[in-house]
Amino acid sequence: MSFVHLHAHTEYSLLDGQGKIKKMVARAKELGMPGLAITDHGAMFGVIEFFKVCKANEIKPIIGIEAYLAPRGMTDRDPQKDRKAFHLLLLAQNETGYRNLLKIATASQLEGFYYSPRVDHDFLAAHADGLICTTGCLNAEIPKAIVEGRESEARKWIDWYYQVFGKENFFFELQDHNIPELQQLNKALHELAPRYSAQFIATNDVHYVKPEDHTLQDILLCIQTGTRVAEKNRMKMSDASYYMRSPDEMRRLFGGVPGAIENTLAIAERCNVDLGFKGYHLPAFPVPEGHTAFSFLYELVPFMRDGLFVELGRAPTADEIAEAGGLSRAEVLSGWKRLHEQHALVLNQAADEIKMANPFSAVPTTYRVRSDGRWWYANCAWDAFGICAALHADGRIETTCPDCREAVNVEVRDNATPPLTATTTRSTPFGTRAPSRP
Ligand SMILES: [Zn+2]
Ligand SMILES: [Zn+2]
Repeated sequence: MSFVHLHAHTEYSLLDGQGKIKKMVARAKELGMPGLAITDHGAMFGVIEFFKVCKANEIKPIIGIEAYLAPRGMTDRDPQKDRKAFHLLLLAQNETGYRNLLKIATASQLEGFYYSPRVDHDFLAAHADGLICTTGCLNAEIPKAIVEGRESEARKWIDWYYQVFGKENFFFELQDHNIPELQQLNKALHELAPRYSAQFIATNDVHYVKPEDHTLQDILLCIQTGTRVAEKNRMKMSDASYYMRSPDEMRRLFGGVPGAIENTLAIAERCNVDLGFKGYHLPAFPVPEGHTAFSFLYELVPFMRDGLFVELGRAPTADEIAEAGGLSRAEVLSGWKRLHEQHALVLNQAADEIKMANPFSAVPTTYRVRSDGRWWYANCAWDAFGICAALHADGRIETTCPDCREAVNVEVRDNATPPLTATTTRSTPFGTRAPSRP
């Protein structure tokens, strides 16, 4: 029978985990494991890369985090009471769980940071949906209480975790490293288990890929803590066992504990998060009842209401605009090019008018000379957008682009026959407001 590592730190557990994601996934595959979890310390920065590499290697990705739990409230910051946070292993079972993990990771950095990114019990309880939780490593809440001899407190917290996560989603976690307290903890968990009909899982607190990586891990920890390898009293891993142990090795250690190996496979099966990189992931924008996003947009944007856009339910083609605007296709295309590729413009100076069509409304629009002989204005909803045009004595027309509101100089080369040429200038001589109608 195989085994899945559900407690694994990658290099994204900064200065703590040493395993490169690619190497870890390759090793899982080599060891014949069907899946692998990512549970970095207080962060999910590695999740996207991990998901992609897993998918490419046909390894089931299990998205998790080893979060930090504040001993009191997540905003409490007392140097004595709040400095040490507990570890907390969480795995996402589904999309809801994944979103909750993101919220936990974000809130812990933005609101709960004090020495480490922390959430508190209330925040955790409010975001427990879709998550699997375990008793955790020696630095987690329940193990600490057990090892420090506070057994009734440990039981109180076990009750709390079962209540918050549900019977099916809370597991007793067993690890095997060379730490005396760990043996004490495992023994206590075994004794407590019958009372809760607890389910076990075996993990290995993976921090690197192979046994020989231990030396590098040790150096990494020295960098983290600003110490030297030769120093005696420094923080270090207890032994060289924090690598990706094989299924055989895990079975040798925990095969005697009913469910401890099997449950890692069952959890891997249960955790289904698809980050689905296909398509757009835009935020949902609620629209009033009876509207689709498309129809609501028309309502909000007046010039779209009557145009070809609505009629067709899509952007019209140049030919359709040409027909609706009474223009030739060439005019539409050249006009688009010139006025920010948005507008077809034709000047008919003899009739004192400019014909204009745009790809959104495609309503043929006529600009006429205002009574003062200077201003031209649009006989359509565009004037709400500050469209106006001025015909200068030298035949130059100034207008405002309805989209960027920059002034556009339309230079008339030949009064009788378009095309016109247009250049954009930085300032808007008319401001952003349309002149009032005559
Ligand atoms: Zn831990
Ligand atoms: Zn850990």
